[in-house]
Amino acid sequence: MKDFFLKIKKSTGLLLCLALLPAFMQLKVLDTAAEASGFGAVYTAYYPGTGWNPWIRDNHVLSRYGAYPRAFKIGLENQPKEMTGTVLYQVNLSGTGWLDWVENGAEAGNIGGEMPLEAIRVKLNGQLEENYDIYTRVYQSGTWTDWVKNGEQAGTEGVGTHIDAIRVAVMQKGAGLPEEIKSNAVDPSRPMIALTFDDGPSAANTHRILNALEANGGRVTFYVVGSSIHGAGADAMKRAVSLGCEIGNHSYNHENLVKLSSQGVRDTINKTSARIQEVTGVAPATMRPPYGSYNSSVLNTIGMPAILWNIDTLDWKTKSTSNTVSHVLSNVKDGDIILMHETYATSAVAAEILIPELIGRGYQLVTVSELAAARGGMSAGKTYGSFR
Ligand code: ZN
Repeated sequence: MKDFFLKIKKSTGLLLCLALLPAFMQLKVLDTAAEASGFGAVYTAYYPGTGWNPWIRDNHVLSRYGAYPRAFKIGLENQPKEMTGTVLYQVNLSGTGWLDWVENGAEAGNIGGEMPLEAIRVKLNGQLEENYDIYTRVYQSGTWTDWVKNGEQAGTEGVGTHIDAIRVAVMQKGAGLPEEIKSNAVDPSRPMIALTFDDGPSAANTHRILNALEANGGRVTFYVVGSSIHGAGADAMKRAVSLGCEIGNHSYNHENLVKLSSQGVRDTINKTSARIQEVTGVAPATMRPPYGSYNSSVLNTIGMPAILWNIDTLDWKTKSTSNTVSHVLSNVKDGDIILMHETYATSAVAAEILIPELIGRGYQLVTVSELAAARGGMSAGKTYGSFR
């Protein structure tokens, strides 16, 4: 396992890697290393219930809302061939204290235990240590710690707090702190996709998705049902808009629009748009027909673009986090619109895994309207399943 990460670009190494990972974590993160920006850390954590997270790339957020890591692994990708050295790390396990240092992809922690990690230390050795600084910070007690580097302790031990999230970044020696990663600016030259969540608002699940976006950056689109907009769900919509997310129209009572009169279509759409505007201050710019059901009469009546999808996770049917995650990761391409539903906790957990993973693979997570704006625009009365 020592040179595991050095082999990642070779097919044998990749096959080994795939064989060792649970089915839903069979990642392309390692075989797309060539597309990445160069030398850096890749890391993962073990969570009770869901197991090892997909590998997260250098300087991205490793987190799982509502779950605390029990173990941690870190390796390096694209290590300069001429340079000796590896990455070493140790974890502080609640109730046990500091475990021994391990290196380059070995497990640090106790995946069978009940106790969370309280702190970690990460450092390089050999020529890597002479040429690079490795920075670490953790999210703990509701805030990110300051960056520490080269074996300094990230996190507070001994006071019963646990690590919620981790970031690690490799920088050229003396280059200073890693870059901040959150940005709402869309770069049209880079790959982007739109994650969409239907049938909400669904307060608790909406907030889980929003927490993942707040931690990692990116925005999504929620297609909400007008009659569900009240109370905590309405509050979640306001928060979504404050984070740059888009709220779209998904009819007032989830009607099959093809079965309504033109006046019926007009009423269900207009009533929902008015409600969304009343709550968030922003009128929806796009709609999604329930069941993906439409005809020319519906399209002529709705007065806005009808947004379909080209990746259907079938999350409502499988109610499986792992199926939803693997379906997206094995199909996703630039310009995709991905259909999920925020009414299932399994889908919210899938979003928590997918958001950092997709960002780590280089995708910008944008709203449907941002995707359309970057890729040729859209018109009322037309349908769109993707924007290439
Ligand atoms: Zn729906």
